[in-house]
Amino acid sequence: MRILVTGGAGFIGSHLCEKLLGDGHSVVALDNLITGSVENIAHLAGHPRFKFIHHDVTEYIFIDGSLDFVMHLASPASPVDYLQFPIQTLKVGALGTHKALGLAREKGAGFLLASTSEVYGDPLVHPQPETYWGNVNPVGPRGVYDEAKRFAEALVFAYMRYHGMSTRVARIFNTYGPRMRADDGRVVPTFICQALRGEDITVYGDGSQTRSFCFVSDTVAGLIKLMESGCPGPVNIGNPDEMTVLDFAKLIASAVGGGRGIVFRDLPVDDPRIRRPDITKARSELGWEPLIPLSDGLAKTVEYFRGKLCSSSC
Ligand code: NAD
Ligand code: UDP
Repeated sequence: MRILVTGGAGFIGSHLCEKLLGDGHSVVALDNLITGSVENIAHLAGHPRFKFIHHDVTEYIFIDGSLDFVMHLASPASPVDYLQFPIQTLKVGALGTHKALGLAREKGAGFLLASTSEVYGDPLVHPQPETYWGNVNPVGPRGVYDEAKRFAEALVFAYMRYHGMSTRVARIFNTYGPRMRADDGRVVPTFICQALRGEDITVYGDGSQTRSFCFVSDTVAGLIKLMESGCPGPVNIGNPDEMTVLDFAKLIASAVGGGRGIVFRDLPVDDPRIRRPDITKARSELGWEPLIPLSDGLAKTVEYFRGKLCSSSC
């Protein structure tokens, strides 16, 4: 297939492009580099089936030739990023999803939206099944991301129903791995880099809030299985292995070694207290479940950041 990946120079997008090329597809990556980097896809440059287009997906998109699928990942994803770019985040979820859907329709292509566990907000149901409608504060600081993705999901389903398009919605839960930015503010790169630099690890609140971390190769495999399935979704893609943020800080401190200690900082507004995907639907409809244990995924991620920090300080 010839597949367009919006957000293709980002963390998950770059791994997705790489896997799709490895599977024999042709890939067009489109990105405005607001939170991504060409460094993430530098190793793909010159590949005969790979093309990069520097473009903002909220503007009219013109792509030469046919397309079989549009995988729409463009959007700031880290809370620090989307709080820094609130309007761009709302625009890419709304206008960007509209443009990407319009392009897919014009080309007769399928469409996959990378949505998020944030559509469940601060959940009152645990673990979160796809049937749960969520508990989102629309006017809080995180609302710019949560509501943009909720609008995007509604738009995808409207295009499916009204235009008869073949569409998919993936609700991705916390994903980690190499190529996250050291300074993107998300908990995995932040804790690992703090430990590697011998700094204190900054736990927000009392650290009793939970997250469930999925290694990027598992998330990418789930997205591809969803694309290949006939299932419109939404489908949760995540790892149900849940832990508190405080336990995660202790795990990183012992995995990296050499860190100073743990310090506590204010909990950000509307920070979800619990999060764990119910992946019954992904198992039954896609035959997918995560395979990489946290210890293995973290070892790879620590190795990546050790290399990065060493090369930037040498
Ligand atoms: P990322 O910030 O590394 O990647 C996002 C990419 O989108 C970046 O390269 C950025 O430059 C690009 N982008 C943003 N706005 C754009 C625009 N207007 N036009 C073109 N490109 C634009 O984030 P990520 O973690 O790789 O997330 C990728 C997708 O997966 C996002 O849609 C995010 O909401 C979703 N997601 C990620 C996670 C996670 O844990 N990583 C969890 C849930 C959902
Ligand atoms: N967090 C933390 N210290 C940090 C960064 C994040 O304790 O330096 C916490 C954050 O408050 C949240 C969890 O880690 O409870 C996950 O945060 P992240 O930004 O990775 O993503 P989220 O799941 O909140 O979107």
